[in-house]
Amino acid sequence: MREAVVGIDVGGTRVKSALVTPDGEILAETVTPTPSEVGPQLGEVAAKTVIELTARAGVAVEVLAVGVAVPGLVDEVAGIGVWSANLGWRDLDLRAGVSAHVDVPVAIGHDVRSGLLAEHRLGAARDADNVLFVPLGTGLASAVLCRGRLVNGSLWTGEIGHVVVDPDGPRCGCGQRGCLEALSSAGAIGRRWSEATGIVGDAEEVARRADAGEPEARRIWQEAIDALAIMVAPVVAAAGTELVLVGGGLVHAGDTLLEPLRAALTARLGGRDDVAVEAAALGDRAGSLGAATIALDLVGR
Ligand SMILES: [Zn+2]
Repeated sequence: MREAVVGIDVGGTRVKSALVTPDGEILAETVTPTPSEVGPQLGEVAAKTVIELTARAGVAVEVLAVGVAVPGLVDEVAGIGVWSANLGWRDLDLRAGVSAHVDVPVAIGHDVRSGLLAEHRLGAARDADNVLFVPLGTGLASAVLCRGRLVNGSLWTGEIGHVVVDPDGPRCGCGQRGCLEALSSAGAIGRRWSEATGIVGDAEEVARRADAGEPEARRIWQEAIDALAIMVAPVVAAAGTELVLVGGGLVHAGDTLLEPLRAALTARLGGRDDVAVEAAALGDRAGSLGAATIALDLVGR
């Protein structure tokens, strides 16, 4: 009998889950579409996921705990999803909902903070204790590790997406102009490109075209990088960050993303070039492995 935990990452479009042993081995994974009205159904979703993962594992498994990672504002201690625009809930008792359907301890976490924990245990931040994690997805949030501990203050910890970095910048979904998310998220890069050129394309397409030297793609790409550096530099300076870890699908752009970001950050930090800027290693598994990490922590494994 193997011991393992279940990690479930509830995203706006997909629910990704993993069955993970205390030494980090992944025994099984699933990806399913996020049901509409997922909040009230989260317990059923978790119970089904546990059954499916253990069936797929190929060995007998004792599930020790379940971890669930969600976006938005999360009270991890109380296990409450305080607010998620994407998933449409407010003040939802996620832990009670899941605990009613599974008979093991349940941990609730924030997707980006849990993802950073997973990168620290298993991924690209294994050798670093002072880390800023910024996944560039549909939206944009961050997490900070300081001396190996997650920074977790108010509910708004890490919510850098709606900080205004260019008051004359593009309109954001929140109503302001020039939010970081409206310039540097993968969603915004693709949207700005499509609006400017009339060609439908995502951020990875913009990266390819910028790399090929197309002026409009280069402009939008560079504006995204500059806005990110404007936000990242003061966080790095304040928190004593040694490693900036960029996550999300855009990390496939590799040096097209990382090299100009290193240059922009160095310029914003008065020439300091001792801050590493690297791609996250776990990709879109960071959330499910992060959820597994908080479940392992919960049961002391
Ligand atoms: Zn905004």
